[in-house]
Amino acid sequence: MNDLPFWKTKTLAEMTAAEWESLCDGCGLCCLNKIEEWDSGDIYFTSVSCKLLDRQSCRCSSYENRWDFVPDCVQLTKENVPEIAWLPPTCGYRLINEGRDLYWWHPLVSGDPETVHAAGISARGRTISETEIDIEDLEDYVVDWPLTVGEAKDVKEA
Ligand code: SF4
Ligand code: SF4
Repeated sequence: MNDLPFWKTKTLAEMTAAEWESLCDGCGLCCLNKIEEWDSGDIYFTSVSCKLLDRQSCRCSSYENRWDFVPDCVQLTKENVPEIAWLPPTCGYRLINEGRDLYWWHPLVSGDPETVHAAGISARGRTISETEIDIEDLEDYVVDWPLTVGEAKDVKEA
């Protein structure tokens, strides 16, 4: 009998809606404003969060109705996950799509939604809301930690 957890046995396309939702680790990194260089297409993260991001829990404060307030919020799907260049390397959807395993701090592995924050993976404590800055100054907030938070040795070990 196969008793491996679903993320080790199923592709993104095979997951149920509940399994799909649970794959989000709650890091909040995808809810940071990003800058795309017009000529190269390179993407840069900023520490400026979407106005709907609860910067403590790192969850969307109006998930069900978010498009009423943020019409360009991107819904992740099994079709677009392989295409989206800005998903951080630690994102559960990106990891599974790339045939990799979830890290120890993922709530599905640890059983605790706080471990993503305790391991220093999430956006908690590192952001400012887009409502608090002049959006013309967005370039001043470019950061690289959303791309590197999973690289430290101590966050890779259980
Ligand atoms: S980056 Fe991925 S895992 Fe993190 S909040 Fe966004 S969808 Fe969830
Ligand atoms: S609307 Fe919600 S889910 Fe979409 S980017 Fe903003 S905080 Fe994230």
